[in-house]
Amino acid sequence: MQRIGIMGGTFDPIHHGHLVAAEEARYQFGLAKVVFIPAGHPPHKVSRKISAASHRLAMTQLAIQSNPFFSISAIEIERPGLSYTIDTVREMKKIYPLADLFFITGADAVLEILSWKHFDELLAQCCFIAAKRPGYRLGKLKTKLPGIGEEQLKRIIIMEVPALAISSTDIRERVQTGRPIKYLLPEAVEKYIVEQGLYQKKS
Ligand code: NAP
Repeated sequence: MQRIGIMGGTFDPIHHGHLVAAEEARYQFGLAKVVFIPAGHPPHKVSRKISAASHRLAMTQLAIQSNPFFSISAIEIERPGLSYTIDTVREMKKIYPLADLFFITGADAVLEILSWKHFDELLAQCCFIAAKRPGYRLGKLKTKLPGIGEEQLKRIIIMEVPALAISSTDIRERVQTGRPIKYLLPEAVEKYIVEQGLYQKKS
């Protein structure tokens, strides 16, 4: 059966850690393609201001253009209301009814999965690839996810990605304090951030 990766994240901004994680998942899990889906209105980020969806979509588009296995979808951004992963996975199931879906995202996010909307259905519909940076201790996944079933646990796979030492938070702080971001993300994304004046300290 065909395997499709769904790369979920806020991507504010997208960086080389995300791109390496997606490519590593594609290789390790034999994914036919990886669809990047920038989060629309993340339910857990109602208090933190995130960049406009149009900017995050444009940066993601620029970042993936050189990889023929990568594509982008605006389904979360175009969907009104809060963006729940279950709604995204249901839509992807309609597009790829026969495929096995793999949702790739950060390990920190996956550790919160028990609080996500309809997590039972979510884990039945797709596997999760939890990307973590080296040195980041997860402990026993089971103890971090109390009450999770054995079969559900098998559907969460941890993948170590050294390049995830890069983080969007650090990049935003670097821009604010005038430190370089070169080589942390694709050149086209760096150029976009500069041209659009993103992440600058508001005076
Ligand atoms: P986050 O809380 O901002 O990020 C948690 C950690 O994971 C950060 O270290 C982040 O690094 C990293 N990360 C995020 N996306 C990644 C990716 N695709 N690959 C590798 N590392 C990644 O997480 P988020 O971006 O807002 O959410 C992640 C995904 O989970 C999104 O698709 C979101 O919609 C989904 N989610 C769904 C629900 C729900 O349905 N209720 C709730 C929460 C999250 P960076 O900051 O460097 O990216």
